[in-house]
Formats: sequence, C-alpha cells, structure tokens
Amino acid sequence: MTALMNAELRLDQVCRSFGTYKAVTDVSLTVNAGELVCIIGPNGAGKSTLLNMMCGTLPLSSGRITLGGMSLDGLSRDRIAHLGVARKFQVPTVFESLTVTDNLRVAAGKTGDAGWLAEVLTMVNLSADADLKAGNLPHGKKQWLEIGMALAMRPSILLLDEPTAGLSVDETLATANLLKGLAGRVTVIVIEHDMGFVRDLGARTVVLHHGQIIASGPFSAIEEDDTVRDIYLGRR
Ligand code: ADP
Ligand code: MG
Repeated sequence: MTALMNAELRLDQVCRSFGTYKAVTDVSLTVNAGELVCIIGPNGAGKSTLLNMMCGTLPLSSGRITLGGMSLDGLSRDRIAHLGVARKFQVPTVFESLTVTDNLRVAAGKTGDAGWLAEVLTMVNLSADADLKAGNLPHGKKQWLEIGMALAMRPSILLLDEPTAGLSVDETLATANLLKGLAGRVTVIVIEHDMGFVRDLGARTVVLHHGQIIASGPFSAIEEDDTVRDIYLGRR
C-alpha cells in the first residue's frame, strides 16, 4: 500500500440510484487527513451505500470522490486500497487458526516488521492477547483484530461499517476509545446507527436520512437538533 500522506477525502454531489430508487442524493463532504468522522442515520438511510462508493466497491451514479485531489472515478477496488483506503466489514473475517500477531503479520505483508506489529497491537488493545489463537477471542476482540488488520496495511483512511454490531455496552465504549486514540494517525470514517456509541465517540457527526445529509456538526449540536431527534424517536 502506497498511502497518500495528506489524503483529504472529498465527496462532491455524490449520487447513487438503484433503478429509479435514489439511495444516496447529492452528498458533499470533506474529511481532513487524520480526522475522525461519524456518519449516522436510521436503517436504509444510505450509509453502507455511501461507504461502498468511498472504497470503490460500488460505482457512483453521478458526482465525484477525490482522495488527495485525485479522482477515484473508474479506479478498481484494489487500486483504491493501494492508495490507502482500508475497509472493515460488519462481520469479522479473521484467520481463526492463526494467532493474533500472525493475523496482523499476514495483513501487513512486507511492511510487517516486529516493531510495527507491536505498535498495531497497542493501537487495538490486543498486546496481552498477541499469542492467542484468533478463534479463541471473544467477539469484541475479533472486531478489534479486524480493525488491527486494516491498520496493519498502513492506510491513510479507515472505513468502518457498524463496528459495534453485536458488542456489549462495555465493548462498545472500549471501541469508541480505541477509535479516538487513532485520531491524527489515520483518517477514520465510521458508520453507525447506535446513538450511544456516537455519543461516546464525540466526533464530527454527519446525519444521513433518505440518502441526504440533513445535519452535520459536533455531536453535542447534533444531539440537540430537532430534526435528528424526530428521526431517532421515529416521529417522521
Ligand atoms: P444503511 O446502510 O443506511 O442501512 P443502505 O445503504 O444499505 O442503508 O441502503 C440504502 C437503501 O438502498 C435501502 O433502501 C436499500 O434497500 C437500498 N439498496 C442498497 N443496496 C442496494 C442494491 N444493491 N440494490 C437495490 N437496492 C439497494
Ligand atoms: Mg448499512
């Protein structure tokens, strides 16, 4: 991976339709290098669709996405990964029979020297579990290991789709702290619908509803926003 150092991610009027259905409409968003941004919204809001377009698994219907000023239009998923965009899926896909460290080593490839692997273990709170088989980790730690595997590739941008799915309240809080600890080292864009987690994260928050950004700002302001409250309380 030849990650861009100062990789500002910029979305301009991004749209995606499925047939006549508009899943994402005119989304414009700039994420600075090293920033932590949370995208929230109810089920079906278009969050995963947006993330799929950022990492190149889904083409845009219209609009533009640039990374460090370079258009991602027409680039393959692999090419975008090589440019430094790493993605963690909702379900952990670790190598169960390998140790935690070996999972990271496999993910890191050539850049996986012992010093770097130890650093990644620290970033994802797994130093004490380094020699355990991944298959023996509890679900929460498997999620962290997968975040570690994405980080091991030294990405400039880490995309996470609902990383707290299936986690306990304590694991969710620990995951928020883990992501906060990455600020400044890697850009993190995390998609969530769990408000408790988003509160713990305390990051710049973008609210997606019916495929459009309806609010954006610090979580403290988002939490006070009447429209957002209505949506989350199911009043519209
Ligand atoms: P979220 O992640 O916010 O829950 P999604 O991005 O998964 O929402 O989906 C947004 C909308 O787009 C939903 O109504 C979903 O059914 C629709 N959708 C997503 N992917 C496809 C697809 N491949 N084909 C048709 N419709 C899709
Ligand atoms: Mg989704």
